[in-house]
Amino acid sequence: MSATTKIENASWVIAWDGAAESHVYLRDADVVFTGADIDFVGTGYRGTADTVIDGAGLMVMPGLVDIHAHPGDEPKSKGLFEEMGSPMLHNTSLIEYMPLVRGDQEGANAALEFALCELLKSGCTTLCDLSGVREGWLDTLAKSGIRAYAAPMFRSARWYTPNGHELCYEWDEDAGKRSFAAALEVVDAAEAHDCGRLKGMISPAQIDTCTADLLKDSAAAAAERGMPWTVHASQSVVEFREMVRRHGQTPVEWLDGLGLLGPDKIIAHAIFVDHHPWLGWPTMDDLDRLGGAGANIAHCPGNFVRRGILLQDFRAYREAGVTIGLGTDTFPHNMIDEMRWAVTLAKVAAADVHSIGAGDVLDAATVGGARALGRDDIGRLGPGAKADIVLVDLAHPSMLPVRDPLRSLMFSALERPVRDVYVDGVLVVKDGDCLTLDHAAAGARLQEAQARALAGVAERDWAGRSADEAFPLSLELR
Ligand SMILES: [Zn+2]
Repeated sequence: MSATTKIENASWVIAWDGAAESHVYLRDADVVFTGADIDFVGTGYRGTADTVIDGAGLMVMPGLVDIHAHPGDEPKSKGLFEEMGSPMLHNTSLIEYMPLVRGDQEGANAALEFALCELLKSGCTTLCDLSGVREGWLDTLAKSGIRAYAAPMFRSARWYTPNGHELCYEWDEDAGKRSFAAALEVVDAAEAHDCGRLKGMISPAQIDTCTADLLKDSAAAAAERGMPWTVHASQSVVEFREMVRRHGQTPVEWLDGLGLLGPDKIIAHAIFVDHHPWLGWPTMDDLDRLGGAGANIAHCPGNFVRRGILLQDFRAYREAGVTIGLGTDTFPHNMIDEMRWAVTLAKVAAADVHSIGAGDVLDAATVGGARALGRDDIGRLGPGAKADIVLVDLAHPSMLPVRDPLRSLMFSALERPVRDVYVDGVLVVKDGDCLTLDHAAAGARLQEAQARALAGVAERDWAGRSADEAFPLSLELR
């Protein structure tokens, strides 16, 4: 028999109203779960419980759902990439700068452990990890206690630039097929993992680096397995122009023609669709294509805004019928920080304070992501949902004064008042500390990994720049 835990008389609860299909606040309410499943959310629970937690001074909220991240790669880029983009390649950092920093397996493991600690400590309980296949990956995800989708990436080509202004592709279609086959083994192993919290996601890396056949074959494999499918598309101006050059179609139009938009697919990041002002494009049809197909997008505003790039805009996508889920994409792996970017940048993009609100962004970070993954049992607190639960300390100074705790969290406090986190009914963060992984030790390993990754930058750079020349410090070092 599984034990029953009752969080009693919580000052605030963000509960799921199934009839209204929305999150609502409850005051002085109980949240009860047995094993991995929530039994009760409401006032006046009359059953018994093995463990009772005093909910006074706490907000109980659903665990957050991160549908797009690269935690094995991105953490090592802190201090390097924040303000890097190629002006001659429309501000993207992907082509010229990303290939300069080369990680190794130990560095990827350190980065993943570090990011998992950040995610759990910021109330994230489900992660979609888009990474390269490597040994130990699934076991680290399992050890952390998080609920995870392993999404091994594969592609038929790699980007490079010989001069900082030209986007080139080195194609190796057979290598793409081999890494697709390896990815299928990993997603099947994830689903079979005995922790029971891992799933697979099929992830051809980018629309412009995969052949049409690889995209279609991978979508068929996803459908066969009942797994979500995701691809980066409409993520840069140069990619948009490249797809038009190849096909005479926008990236979204091309995907639509291949049958690769739909409710079981996630498009990351779908920013450079044909109405985006940086494109100056004569049509404005992509948003209707996305919405008409019931597409999902992975919205990761924090990464893009560092290069001055905005989704135009959150509300318009939603009104077109697009389901928006949130992802962290890069460092910091902090979903509450991402929520703050999402809500503020939506207002900036729309030039309208009332464009969207904190509740809309909570939806994206919870049930929006869940819907994109085809699930109705995560991202919500209600009977039958998984016990993925976050306890927020309302007495933390960053939350005070508490009148609207979601706004306090999103606009002021971020992860600081997150006290305890449960995934599948298991306590994984207690009093702000991650119980499953050593955050400080992972950070020390990550520091060493970054140093290793920066060796040899000059040999990889088209201009032969050293690491310090390619990635200058923000202030002059004297
Ligand atoms: Zn990405």
